[in-house]
Amino acid sequence: MKVAVFSTKSYDKKFFDQENKKFKHELEYFEVHLDESTVTLAKGFEAVCVFVNDDINEECLNKLSEYGIKTILLRCSGFNNIDLNVASCLGITVARVPEYSPHGVAEHALTLILALNRKIYRAYNRIRENNFLLEGLLGFNLNTKTVGVIGTGRIGSVFCKIMKGLGCPVLAYDPNINQDCIDSGVEYVDMKTLFKCSDIISLHCPLTPQTTHIIDDQAISNMKQGVMIINTSRGALIDTVAIVRGLKSEKIAYLGLDVYEEEGDLFFEDVSEKILEDDVFARLLTFPNVLITGHQAFFTDTALENITNITLQNLTDIEQCKPCPNLVTHEYIVSAKKE
Ligand code: NAD
Repeated sequence: MKVAVFSTKSYDKKFFDQENKKFKHELEYFEVHLDESTVTLAKGFEAVCVFVNDDINEECLNKLSEYGIKTILLRCSGFNNIDLNVASCLGITVARVPEYSPHGVAEHALTLILALNRKIYRAYNRIRENNFLLEGLLGFNLNTKTVGVIGTGRIGSVFCKIMKGLGCPVLAYDPNINQDCIDSGVEYVDMKTLFKCSDIISLHCPLTPQTTHIIDDQAISNMKQGVMIINTSRGALIDTVAIVRGLKSEKIAYLGLDVYEEEGDLFFEDVSEKILEDDVFARLLTFPNVLITGHQAFFTDTALENITNITLQNLTDIEQCKPCPNLVTHEYIVSAKKE
């Protein structure tokens, strides 16, 4: 099938070209995001392939449908950036990559925790200036600290096991209990208890209308003094203005982010020559106890290989009318309609 691949970087091309040798689809790469302003580029293609910051809204979907495009391939697990109701009404099939490397993302959450706790980012800069003082680098033992995990699906459950391995009691909140987590000693509690008892809180649930700003002023007020918050899931799970207030009041002592609610104009781009217009993000960067990575939790060789392989297999399944296990199914569309 002839596919327009949007938001592509050199590493996407490398892995797609490598994996496509066995699938032999016709791929054309575009660096720009797909949204209503760039959708004309999709004319003449049979499918589009998109990533996390493409904005597949109603206007964009109507145009895709007008061009005869009936397949959208998400090369990510989240599908919050696509209007599923409209896609369903237009008869557009949406496939995603539900799992490509839960270990990679869970390990990145741990990386943020350890780097923040032991202030590795500060130590790295100090040592390069021959400053070997330890003042300001005091950390804490992770062992025995209580970790609260919101969302115990593929990534959250791996993260729970990692933290159990470090000797941390793990509390979890998820409307769907994961037996595997219970078997590894995770205790499910309500959200309020999780906030009250956790030294570290890590977010691993999807972004939905119910989870938008799940971390707001109210949630922060219920947390322990000096809490560490980690978000490798989706930016809008956190009300960033509330989190800035929590950092200023010192209620939050550590913040590790791989995602940011307004990341679309920043992440995956080099904007070092530009003036930063986002004052909230600029304020976040001023805190010595905030560590931000630019949506790189997924970014391992294993994940890229799996993402491209599964995306191309999804396309082959759809093209050959074979059952595709990774369609964003009716179940999701119905739940989106209810919301
Ligand atoms: P998953 O679907 O396997 O698990 C999500 C879990 O969240 C499920 O168990 C679900 O029951 C739970 N959940 C749903 N609503 C909830 C709520 N209101 N409160 C608590 N839990 C709730 O998904 P996954 O593969 O583990 O991925 C989790 C999220 O991680 C994705 O939605 C995606 O946004 C994000 N992600 C980020 C990166 C990255 O590079 N930073 C990479 C992959 C995925």
